[in-house]
Amino acid sequence: MDADQAPSPNFNDRKHPVDMLVLHYTGMESGDAALARMCDPAAEVSAHYMVWEDGRITQLVAEDKRAWHAGVSSWQGDDDLNSRSIGIEIVNGGHDVPLPDGTLPPYPDQQITALIALCQGVLARHAIPADRVVAHSDIAPTRKTDPGEHFPWARLAAAGIGLSPVSGDAMAATDELSTGHTGAQVSALQHALKAIGYRLEASGTYDAATRLVVCAFQRRWLPDRLTGNADRNTLARVRDVYAAVTASSGPPSSASSSSASRPS
Ligand SMILES: [Zn+2]
Repeated sequence: MDADQAPSPNFNDRKHPVDMLVLHYTGMESGDAALARMCDPAAEVSAHYMVWEDGRITQLVAEDKRAWHAGVSSWQGDDDLNSRSIGIEIVNGGHDVPLPDGTLPPYPDQQITALIALCQGVLARHAIPADRVVAHSDIAPTRKTDPGEHFPWARLAAAGIGLSPVSGDAMAATDELSTGHTGAQVSALQHALKAIGYRLEASGTYDAATRLVVCAFQRRWLPDRLTGNADRNTLARVRDVYAAVTASSGPPSSASSSSASRPS
């Protein structure tokens, strides 16, 4: 990998070995604006890498240091995800800077090609299980929507980056679950989402937190169905991803927590 260097002052020491990869979009008008912000000590945000639209890569923080991109977040019971992750910012306006017609700006091919090579290098240098390659929206579903439902996760999965669930049979005889529903089916859904990694209380009630986590799940795994309701396709997909997680790794690790730095 050939990366430009733009050292950011916004980092400190890790408290854990690297075992996660977190993908973001910059959500700003330009890559230059995002880079300036991540190098501004007052902003207190950074990432290890930024990938430009044309495929150029800029490194801001050394991989053995703790960059400040995840903010308050959680995955598979772990907190302080900045301490255990590599953070990559992908230049894209996302939901904050959409196209004039209101749609999300596409990720150019050459950008994704460069990102895939970068991720493959990261995965070669660190032991990162497939179910710990995540979106910022996975680890902070109440606050974040990046890298967005327009991000080509399937292309990354085909290149060996992240989970690649096999689609099973559609779940039989399950009605759509949505806000206000209670009972065993809701509990089962919550337990499965928790096992995948999302922070969620298995209360048995389809509450606002459940809806936000279902949105985060759909944003990554069913981007055409971003409803927050668990319809049959969503329930089947949850089961597929849960099965892929179970197959790809042992039980989730537990870890001590400490407060994370700042959102990016
Ligand atoms: Zn982010």
